[in-house]
Amino acid sequence: MNNETALVVFSGGQDSTTCLFWAKKHFKRVYALSFLYGQKHEKEVEMARNIARKAEVGFEAMDVSFIGHLGKNSLTDFSVRMDEEKPEGSFPNTFVPGRNLFFLSIAAVYARERGINHIVTGVSQTDFSGYPDCRDAFIKSLNVALNLAMDGQFVIHTPLMWIDKAQTWALADELGVLDLVRNETLTCYNGIPGDGCGHCPACRLRREGLEKYLDTKEKLI
Ligand code: ZN
Repeated sequence: MNNETALVVFSGGQDSTTCLFWAKKHFKRVYALSFLYGQKHEKEVEMARNIARKAEVGFEAMDVSFIGHLGKNSLTDFSVRMDEEKPEGSFPNTFVPGRNLFFLSIAAVYARERGINHIVTGVSQTDFSGYPDCRDAFIKSLNVALNLAMDGQFVIHTPLMWIDKAQTWALADELGVLDLVRNETLTCYNGIPGDGCGHCPACRLRREGLEKYLDTKEKLI
């Protein structure tokens, strides 16, 4: 893969930042594309821009705020209180319907215009939070659909698909960016960078993963 270019769908969170550095290791040139989808925490995009600068990769933020207006969810709508737990038998209201469908479709058009075939996304089925568009079957079927739609040769890479949060921290460490990911990314649903608010589902998942990884690492030393 080394002499080619990759486009990373980049939010500035733990997962996509790890993917950005993964892509830098595997591809000669890397671009990062962020989306403004009406998320409450727009500083997410500023943080993403800073990380891209440090990683020395091209960065663009694209306004797709219509996505947030299409469906009701707690990440874009101030009147919706965020679910702290996943409701029985349904999606948590942090689910933004169609988000990855739109992001990856737009990324593919963007990549095509620039002669890029490789698209990288940080979705993971392992820590499945109830988001159907994070599943491997969806990504594979969208990959086929995008190639058919544009007569393309796209390859969607999902380095985190089968690993859990602890293994994602291990990957960041292996790539030499554990501290950067820990301190400069934003995963928290309440918009607090680094270790976050500590109690939202994203913070809990992130912290449990980090504790598990650091614990394992300590035992190995
Ligand atoms: Zn939080």
